[in-house]
Amino acid sequence: MYTKNSTTDLVIAGAGAAGMMAAVTAAERGLSVCVLDPNGKIGKKLRITGKGRCNVTNDCAPAEFFHSVTTNAKFIKSAVYGFPPAAVMDFFERAGVPLKTERGNRVFPVSDRADDVAEALRRMALELGIVFRKDRALSVRLEDGHVAAVVCGEREYPCRAFAVCTGGVSYPGTGSTGDGYRIARDLGLAVVPPHPALVPLEADEVCAELQGLSLRNVDLRLTEHGKTLYTERGELLFTHFGMSGPLVLTASCFLKHSDYSDVQISIDLKPALTPERLDDRILRDFSAVLNRDIINALDELLPRKLIPVVIRRAGIDPRCKVNAVTREERRELCRQIKEFTVRVYGARPVEEAIVTSGGVDVKEIDPRTMQAKKIPGLYFAGEVLDTDALTGGFNLQIAWSTGRLAGNSVPLPQGGS
Ligand SMILES: Cc1cc2nc3c(=O)[nH]c(=O)nc-3n(C[C@H](O)[C@H](O)[C@H](O)COP(=O)(O)OP(=O)(O)OC[C@H]3O[C@@H](n4cnc5c(N)ncnc54)[C@H](O)[C@@H]3O)c2cc1C
Repeated sequence: MYTKNSTTDLVIAGAGAAGMMAAVTAAERGLSVCVLDPNGKIGKKLRITGKGRCNVTNDCAPAEFFHSVTTNAKFIKSAVYGFPPAAVMDFFERAGVPLKTERGNRVFPVSDRADDVAEALRRMALELGIVFRKDRALSVRLEDGHVAAVVCGEREYPCRAFAVCTGGVSYPGTGSTGDGYRIARDLGLAVVPPHPALVPLEADEVCAELQGLSLRNVDLRLTEHGKTLYTERGELLFTHFGMSGPLVLTASCFLKHSDYSDVQISIDLKPALTPERLDDRILRDFSAVLNRDIINALDELLPRKLIPVVIRRAGIDPRCKVNAVTREERRELCRQIKEFTVRVYGARPVEEAIVTSGGVDVKEIDPRTMQAKKIPGLYFAGEVLDTDALTGGFNLQIAWSTGRLAGNSVPLPQGGS
């Protein structure tokens, strides 16, 4: 058990997904554990994941999992095989969080409440006697090159091991402000400069006009210099600065090295209809409203906000009567609906990204333990590391797996069993 001023087996910075998993795992093995976090609350970011529903993991086989990891998949192999999605699901079910699997193998609590996931971790931690301190780890004191204490300003927490689970720099309001990078750099470890992953994109002014409009079941095609980088069906959202939503966030991962000089997103607004069937459909809709202005004739086909934009782009006068629309104009209308193109100018800043790419260089870390190769007793887990993945529960799975491995790797105290 932890006692004040005594040496704790494991001090953890960060009560997020990775830190809590490391804490529970180590405490289950009988280690004394103290978790530091300047947030008074456990899992502040965890509680807003998946729009407040928490996409806990992705129910796929580990081998499949790595296809969705965009940075350093090889590095996390041991961690994910050691604590794969099925084990994570079992862990939370046993912790009293029934789960369900939705489209794309995405796993959520049956309750649709991310709070339930965070609360389950909090309950387990309290039952295991894990101590929490509202404190901010700033540096590490080494003795003979080994971790001896975590330093928080005036206060020190003597310990045998220290796990840095401080997250990246995205959504800094949740507490992830890059402290882990500073701690690592001060100790001479390399840090890959952070940059945004899964981030909304800045695009054409037309997006501002469509702000607030969310489209489901549309096909997105991302191109750079005319080459297709990504294409998928799903959901997207227009915002005052450009575009967001699941399709766009995933698309952004394919633009990591882009200078955005020639990037376009083309949206097929009616992917279920071939151009010919779409034309038939428009003809049928038109035949019922021949004397209406075209601006009032497409309500059955398109969301209201899109109608004036599509008509303008097709070069048709919005006050043109339906019976005066030429075949050429109708063709161009169909083309605009099948290929609604938006120019992309850049990504939003890393603070607005769902995940931070970059972080502590994985070359510094032993993938079998999550321990820093140069500094015995120093561990890293979660988003602080330079590894990230697509949407679908993969990023939390990385946090669970690496946190679990760190918690399992801290040696038992001498005399422990
Ligand atoms: C809006 C949003 C939705 C998301 N939805 C999903 C989803 O549904 N599924 C999914 O897989 N992923 C999702 N993610 C990504 C996922 O939340 C993160 O990858 C994951 O939370 C990373 O966990 P972590 O423990 O490494 O870091 P974090 O959850 O960021 O936790 C880090 C903790 O460290 C603390 N800390 C920071 N500095 C210090 C310090 N110096 N000392 C002590 N403590 C410190 C912070 O206060 C924080 O509590 C989402 C992210 C966002 C922003």
